[in-house]
Amino acid sequence: QSSVIIIGAGVAGLASAIRLAAAGYSVQVFEQNSYPGGKLSYFEINGYCFDAGPSLFTQPANIEALFAEANEPIQDYFEYRQVPIACQYFYEDGTRFTAYTQHDQLAQAAESQLGESGSNLLRYLNDSKQLYNKVGTLFLNHSLHKPGVLFQKKIIPALATIRYKHLFKSLNALNRSYFQQEKTVHLFNRYATYNGSNPYQAPGMLSVIPHLELNEGTFYPKGGMIAITNALYQLALKKGVQFHFNAPVEKIITDKGRVKGIYSKGVPYASNVVVSNVDAYFTYQRLLNDAKTAQKINRQERSSSALIFYWGIKESFPELDLHNIFFSSNYAAEFEAIFKKKTLYADPTVYINITAKCEPGIQAPPGKENWFVMINVPSVTEVDMAAMQQQAKAAILAKLNRLLKRDIASLIEVEAVLDPLKIELNTGSYKGALYGTSSNSKWAAFLRHPNFSSKIKGLYFVGGSVHPGGGIPLCLRSAKIMSGLAIPYLKKMNPH
Ligand code: FAD
Repeated sequence: QSSVIIIGAGVAGLASAIRLAAAGYSVQVFEQNSYPGGKLSYFEINGYCFDAGPSLFTQPANIEALFAEANEPIQDYFEYRQVPIACQYFYEDGTRFTAYTQHDQLAQAAESQLGESGSNLLRYLNDSKQLYNKVGTLFLNHSLHKPGVLFQKKIIPALATIRYKHLFKSLNALNRSYFQQEKTVHLFNRYATYNGSNPYQAPGMLSVIPHLELNEGTFYPKGGMIAITNALYQLALKKGVQFHFNAPVEKIITDKGRVKGIYSKGVPYASNVVVSNVDAYFTYQRLLNDAKTAQKINRQERSSSALIFYWGIKESFPELDLHNIFFSSNYAAEFEAIFKKKTLYADPTVYINITAKCEPGIQAPPGKENWFVMINVPSVTEVDMAAMQQQAKAAILAKLNRLLKRDIASLIEVEAVLDPLKIELNTGSYKGALYGTSSNSKWAAFLRHPNFSSKIKGLYFVGGSVHPGGGIPLCLRSAKIMSGLAIPYLKKMNPH
């Protein structure tokens, strides 16, 4: 039986390993770090637990599907629950908005807290659902470059759902056509950041994203986001996947247009199928020594990056929830700074995630809170990171002090920081982009690298920098699309 090599143990690498092992192939994963998970990793300081990267968990069905595929009971590995509040929003003028996931509560809150028509909001969410069901599922579940019969059957009705506003208007313009209040427009513009894009540029198509959070629901994995990595890693081990940690891959070996294996730490490992979970840019640039294709990929705009402060806060804040947003007073100027000027904005939108809200006394010491404080920044690595951190910290503290009416700096017991350069170094994400390439162009979905190489047989791609895009749900789908392409190839190589 042929063996498969996977480069990278990010969430897409782990899902790929599970799918191919469940199909009966022997799988080896090579990971440069000493731990699995890539961006989905974790650390602890003095009893404060911190998920290093993702904090929002949607579409648990993608994880359920992996356990079903592997024929293992999910409850032995992973527990999660739905949370009633998607996010608490704070505006500069003192307005607060609670985004309930229950629709009548949400509509009522929109009327009383934002002065927005609740029925406008529900109409928006219904349109978002239709768009997701007819168009989203099609694009997210299939290869666009090897479309297959099912895709071809569904594409005509899908295209019939797409309107002018979805492709030729920005998300901001589309949102303005639904909502009367500027604050509601801001709130729904924010969804563009869920794949690292700019709502003033990205197409109205991105109005599909709120469907995941506000229609399907927001979830919390017991133990925090790291529970996802742990569950998938344990499942992969159970299926016999062999992991090599501290094992950077330097080269993918090819011969006459076919994959032959890899080199890790100077040692060759043979394989007819290699799956790269490494950023597509670095796969070409470093592992295939193909500067020309790397440059071609580089022509697509990168998604935004992030600057994160992990703070152990020695008090608790009853007005905060699991997810909290403190909006910039000038949202358009903030995105202009991130995507056009490539600088830090003076009054950034601040996101705080606090898992101690779901597991008090476990995720942080009793009576205290673990704050994951994030702002969006440009994906740049050649700037003075220390200066950027200093400037960002001052801006974040000024904003939080103003809106929470407390001196936050005096409550910080422990601190760690993540910046775009560290994201690039820790996970191999070019320029520290969180989600690979941005969706600012209406053609982004078609320009993203496919899940296979058209030049090298046996080479496949998964993860946030390739089709269908970044974020945990999409990365998990990339593994599904990849296995749908790689398994027939493996069968052809080894007919029984
Ligand atoms: P990655 O996690 O990027 O992993 C790639 C792996 O490959 C890494 O482990 C790396 O070490 C390894 N590797 C690289 N080069 C080599 C090599 N040469 N040899 C061996 N190994 C190599 N998504 C959400 O869904 N919700 C969120 O709330 C969210 N928030 C985010 C916040 C932050 C701060 C960040 C950084 C990301 C966030 N995301 C979020 C995005 C999400 O984390 C990513 O889209 C997803 O985790 C990427 O997974 P991946 O499989 O593409 O690979």
